[in-house]
Order: sequence, then structure tokens, then C-alpha cells
Amino acid sequence: MSAFRLMPIGISLVFSLASVAHAEEPVKQFTTTPLAGSVSVLQGWECNNPVSAGDDGIVLVDTCGAKVAERLLAAAQRLSTKPLRFVINTHAHGDHTAGNAVVQKFAPVIAHHNVRTRMAAGNEKTGDKPAARGALPSITFDSEMILHLNGEEIRLLHLPPGHTDGDTVVFFKNANVVFTGDVFMSPAASFGDRHYGGSMLGLISALELVLPQIPADAKVVPGHGAISTRAEVVRGLEVLKQMKAIVEAGVKKGQTLEQLQAERPFDQFRGSVPPWSSSDKSLNGWVKDFYREIAPKQEAPK
Ligand SMILES: [Zn+2]
Repeated sequence: MSAFRLMPIGISLVFSLASVAHAEEPVKQFTTTPLAGSVSVLQGWECNNPVSAGDDGIVLVDTCGAKVAERLLAAAQRLSTKPLRFVINTHAHGDHTAGNAVVQKFAPVIAHHNVRTRMAAGNEKTGDKPAARGALPSITFDSEMILHLNGEEIRLLHLPPGHTDGDTVVFFKNANVVFTGDVFMSPAASFGDRHYGGSMLGLISALELVLPQIPADAKVVPGHGAISTRAEVVRGLEVLKQMKAIVEAGVKKGQTLEQLQAERPFDQFRGSVPPWSSSDKSLNGWVKDFYREIAPKQEAPK
């Protein structure tokens, strides 16, 4: 998600104190939830990791964090005695790629070209360091790729820039499971990370493009949050479109960003954005992100 720029300082402090308080507790393990056919999802940290496991081996999607990658790998390997065959990164954010160096000792990591490029370059704006060579995806693709394993057709579809410029949605065709990565986060709306080539308006377009390809009865696994349905992705798109319309109306009226923020127009969406984005400061950060993209360039804040 890389939502730290949206996370108020107060919440960061609470998390830090909580981790100190729980330092003596047993190490948390990943839980496994079977979805359909060969596909399960591993959960336990702030990330969802779908797995296809069967006679042909194991395919793991995203690698969570460096500190938990070995536990993630062990959880995936409990689903089949066959080897890890492929790993997929849905985008470049560290909470989806930071375990790459651990898992890539066993199987190649596949991602869109831009994921490798961004990881190799690092990011001065966010303070992300260039990734080590062994952590970079060793197989990259342009628009689409299909893996055929475990009686499953695993389709990787690159989307236009939305959450980032390397977003890949993973369709497990036979199991009827779709992993959205972070273009969708339960309970509703995700966000576009401009430091990684994403944008709020781009995310709306990306969701409009991918929604017709998601079957109505598919199980939808978001990048973060509870296992969902297509209807919940639709709601996420609707929330983003409502936010866009509110800011467009403000810009049309000639409101400055400060005037618009003073009206607190996004407070109504508090339950429709991820929990870490629900503070007053974060919600006005969402207003700013939309305003920056919608307002005429000479008026837009940097
Ligand atoms: Zn992300």
C-alpha cells in the first residue's frame, strides 16, 4: 500500500508502542483460507497473499515484508509438497515486494517491467532504497502473461497507471478468484500513489477497465482487507467517482484547495477508505490529491 504518507503521526506512534508492548508475545503465523480449486489466500499481516498449490507446484502472489517472508514461504509450502515454481509481484510497493530476495532463492519473481525499473531505481521522494539485485523481478512482461499450472489458468493483466504504474491484476480463471493487488482495498476505495506513477484519476480509469473482466460471482481478494465481491469493487469505484465530482464542483466554483478542505467534503467517506486513511488529516489529504489533478495546473499545489 505504501500509505505512510497518508498516515498521521499519531497512528504511527500507536503502532510503535503496540509493537513494543507485544514484543514478548509468540510470533504471529499466517492463516490459510481455501478459496476454490488450487487457490488459497494467506493472511496474517497487513497483506493478502494468494497461492495456487497443487501437483505442479506452488505459485505465490506478492511477498509481504522482508521480516515475515520466511514465514510466508513456509505457510505456502504447507499447501503442497511440490516446489515453489513462480512468484508474482502485483506492484512495486515494499509491502508487496520486500520478501522478494528470500523467495527468489527458490523461484523466479514475475512482474510488469515498471515494477523492476522502480525497484532498481529506488525512490527519493518516499525514501525507498534501490532494491538488491536478488530482489528484482527476474521475469518481466508488458501487457499480459498466462501461467498454466495446477489445472489453473493464472492470467496476469497489467493495468494503465492507477495505484502505481506497474499494477497487475491476477485472474485465477478456473477457481474464479481475482486478486486485485492495491487497485482495490477493502472496505472500498484505494488511492493513486503519484510517487510511483499512479494517480487518483488514473485509478478510476484502471478500475473502469478491469471491472468488466471480473465475473459477477468471482471471489475478489483485495491487496489489503477482507475477501470481497465484485460489488464491493464497484462501490470502491463509485466512492472515487463521488470524490472526483465533489472536487470538480469546487474547482468549477473557483474554490481554492484551502476553501474546499475547510468544508471537510470527504468526511462522509470515512468508512469507505482504509482505516489508516480515516483521520481528519488523511481525509483532507485525499481532497488535496484530487485537487492537484483536477485544478488548472497554475492553481494546483505542489
Ligand atoms: Zn500499494
